[in-house]
Amino acid sequence: MTSSIADRAHEAYERRPGFFDTLVDQRAPRYMWIACSDSRARPGHFACVQPAQVFVHRNTGNLVIRTDTHLTADLRFAVERLQVETIFVAGHYGCSSVHAGLHAAAGQPQPTWLRHIQATRRHYQPLIESLPLHLQLDALCELNVLEQVVNVCTLLSGFWDRGYQVSVAGHMCGPDDSVLVDLGITTDSCASLLEQFVGAVERVARRHSLLHCSRPSPPL
Ligand SMILES: [Zn+2]
Repeated sequence: MTSSIADRAHEAYERRPGFFDTLVDQRAPRYMWIACSDSRARPGHFACVQPAQVFVHRNTGNLVIRTDTHLTADLRFAVERLQVETIFVAGHYGCSSVHAGLHAAAGQPQPTWLRHIQATRRHYQPLIESLPLHLQLDALCELNVLEQVVNVCTLLSGFWDRGYQVSVAGHMCGPDDSVLVDLGITTDSCASLLEQFVGAVERVARRHSLLHCSRPSPPL
């Protein structure tokens, strides 16, 4: 018989009696983690840190939409109250949300979140279409993260102007939980964002082009 959540929490406590007390004592998260709601994306595990060190916001496709009041409230709390050091936007390969954005039919009514992913797909259409189908999803997952980093920076510009010290970084989680890919964009100001962003997009294109050359397409 499947155990309840309460049973499993009790079992966890029995195995590690001090675990939850430790979490209570760690009330100063150093990081904010914006990740996909996908059950395979486990933020604390990916970051190799204790859960209490990470303030987590999750949504479909790890999106940062400026009119999303839940996201903006979490961001403000993380920066002003928790004073986190770094905000990570963390995508993951094989993301179902990004897959939906990649393959959604044009011209059909779509939910807001999907339209944002579709907009990214359209913006990078030449790059995406230069890749074989089996690499397009991974490339769009990475590009989606880079776009969300830009959106976070836009939301943070007012905080930076007021002297808050917080950086933003874009990472990818691999199918293996232990794999964390730095997309090479870590910034603490709008001034450094543009240069890093251009370089990061170029690396996405280069990385997947090299994969295309070195890895044969899977059989149909
Ligand atoms: Zn996902």
